Amino acid sequence: MRALILSDIHANLEALTSALAAAAPFDVLWHLGDVVGYGASPNEVLDLVRPLAQLNVRGNHDRVCCGLTSALGFNPVARAAATWTNHELTPDNLQWLRDMPQGPQTPEQPGVTCVHGSPLNEDQYILSMRDAWAPLQQMTTTITFFGHTHLQGGFSQKDEDWHEIRPKYATRNEEDTWVMPIPPGTRHLINPGSVGQPRDSDWRAAFAIYDTEAQEIVFHRVPYDLTASQGRILIAGLPERLAARLREGR
Ligand code: ZN
Repeated sequence: MRALILSDIHANLEALTSALAAAAPFDVLWHLGDVVGYGASPNEVLDLVRPLAQLNVRGNHDRVCCGLTSALGFNPVARAAATWTNHELTPDNLQWLRDMPQGPQTPEQPGVTCVHGSPLNEDQYILSMRDAWAPLQQMTTTITFFGHTHLQGGFSQKDEDWHEIRPKYATRNEEDTWVMPIPPGTRHLINPGSVGQPRDSDWRAAFAIYDTEAQEIVFHRVPYDLTASQGRILIAGLPERLAARLREGR
């Protein structure tokens, strides 16, 4: 089975459509949250993701954009985008966001958990080995997929061996993949990266595919129509920084 894992789409329609085209064919879609916020196409993105995803986990932006959580903890740019998104969303999409389940969630595939931040706390950022240590100890499955940091890669553990995972790509502007085997006896925390607002200095949309037969994870980067996505943000009157950062991948 080929499971497509998407996270942090952030209402970027151009990035999402490029990612879906590059990922096909896939059998299931597991979605790790932050489907809206920052970008200018919240309804279009939700209309694509909702019928495709077998599993959804809510993100902090999903909670704030649908009014479940106050935007007071957000910086001014994120808050402005959340307020704009809240006004833009259809009643049906607003309700769907309010009903999104909190992580951890488990798909039918055994040995897998899906979360937004950390398996221990949905809002926690797993950025370093120090952050990864407790979740790796306490995970009940061999693989946990997480998002929230917008950094593709993750952490693995086998007995006393700990590794940070950072995909290495030969190209900067073309479609590219990086394959990582899952050896027996290892535990993995895997971040597919952010589809719609990467922050690892690579502007291309990020996602991952878990091949359960081959026991490997394939990390992907795909170029998308950046100018169109930036144009939508500017036309919508959203903060200019949200358009500029897409090019920088920051
Ligand atoms: Zn996010």
